[in-house]
Amino acid sequence: MDLLNEVKDAGIIGAGGAGFPTHAKLTSKAEYILLNGAECEPLLRVDRQLMAQFPDEIIRGMEAAGRYIEAHKAIIGIKGKHKEVIVLMRARIAALGLANYMEVMELRDIYPAGDEQVLVHELTHRIVPEASIPLKVGCVVINAETALNISQAMAGTPVTETYITVAGDIPRRLTMKVPVGVSIRDVIGQCGVENVDDYAVIDGGPMMGAVMNNVDGYVTKKSKGYVLLKKEHFLIRKKSVNIDQARVISRTACEQCRMCTDLCPRYLLGHNMQPHKVMRALSYNLGDVKEQQIAQLCCECGACELFSCPVNLHPKSVNILYKQKLAEQGIRYQPTQLEFTPRSAREYRLIPSKRLIAKIGLTAFDKPAPLTQIEFRPEYIRIALRQHIGAPAIPVVTVGEQVKAGQLIGKIPDNSLGAAVHASLDGTVIENTQDFIVIKVGSYV
Ligand code: SF4
Ligand code: SF4
Repeated sequence: MDLLNEVKDAGIIGAGGAGFPTHAKLTSKAEYILLNGAECEPLLRVDRQLMAQFPDEIIRGMEAAGRYIEAHKAIIGIKGKHKEVIVLMRARIAALGLANYMEVMELRDIYPAGDEQVLVHELTHRIVPEASIPLKVGCVVINAETALNISQAMAGTPVTETYITVAGDIPRRLTMKVPVGVSIRDVIGQCGVENVDDYAVIDGGPMMGAVMNNVDGYVTKKSKGYVLLKKEHFLIRKKSVNIDQARVISRTACEQCRMCTDLCPRYLLGHNMQPHKVMRALSYNLGDVKEQQIAQLCCECGACELFSCPVNLHPKSVNILYKQKLAEQGIRYQPTQLEFTPRSAREYRLIPSKRLIAKIGLTAFDKPAPLTQIEFRPEYIRIALRQHIGAPAIPVVTVGEQVKAGQLIGKIPDNSLGAAVHASLDGTVIENTQDFIVIKVGSYV
């Protein structure tokens, strides 16, 4: 079987973001394959530890993907502050005889170094055009956990687990490997938290993750971290403002200083993303939604509303509001140019991660979250059939059926973009709906 089908059968999706099915990335040819090891979300500690623990597997997975897409060069981007990981990865690349093909480049400790388009520029000096993808400039980007999953797929092992950091204002910060479908409460419970309801929980990193309405959900392949903070923490209060509140506050208080634009990472790459203009449209009721197409250039990194705005407004949320309106009207941004150069001031306007962490009140919690082996023995697991971009998987098991860990339980619908889903533990199927499969965990007879 070729790599694309191994990856497809293993149900691999991008472990670092929206959950794009990885096999679809392998259908194109590209000049570069880039490994996103930036992990720029504050407090999350997965990728750097995976690279330290599984360097050979990650290198092998990345090499295989790179060769498959006929990339001439493979570049691993790791923040320069992770010296030991960089030294180790370079040593293992040399030991595996790949020094002519693969190199490690040091990334600056800036936010958002892990934004795909920022990463592409930092590693290749190319700029992804507006409203486009890295492939347009000859790059395919995968992250460290995805590369690890590719190497496991080559050995016939599907994705049934994910690595998660639990961090924040809690007694024990941890990173752990968790079977897909385990309850989030079980995961958080490993960290010495007595009553999770005393906290607000962010699903993902503190910059881009959303505050969860409740924690009664279940781990998916995309789950990367949970950040627990007291409900009165600045970040929670800021993130809990709903879109209507954000709209009213933004309309009344925006002083058009344009700090949100001047520090916007996409604007600094030369794109036309100018959040102060979208704010102006909101403030002055400039009704023509079509005129606000630039909102679609926003990657929702959150820098404008959590770092840049001096009066604490919500330009990202306003962008999202306009994106929704544009989508409702079927309007898509039309780029006016194809070539981009970074703004001349970019070098002076990058956001240092340490400053960002201080600004959002997380310095006290910016601590190690060691990768720790934990055995999860839940009573049951609930595995979502849509954990990815594209169509949900179609169940291939029935209620009462016994399944083994690693067994296919949901397949990709014909002629659709999607990802296969597998049982993460042995057990018996007790519920089977269009959205999820519940497995009572127990030994396979
Ligand atoms: S930084 Fe804040 S106040 Fe200044 S233009 Fe942007 S939203 Fe308005
Ligand atoms: S969230 Fe704000 S800073 Fe980030 S890309 Fe969008 S407008 Fe720019």
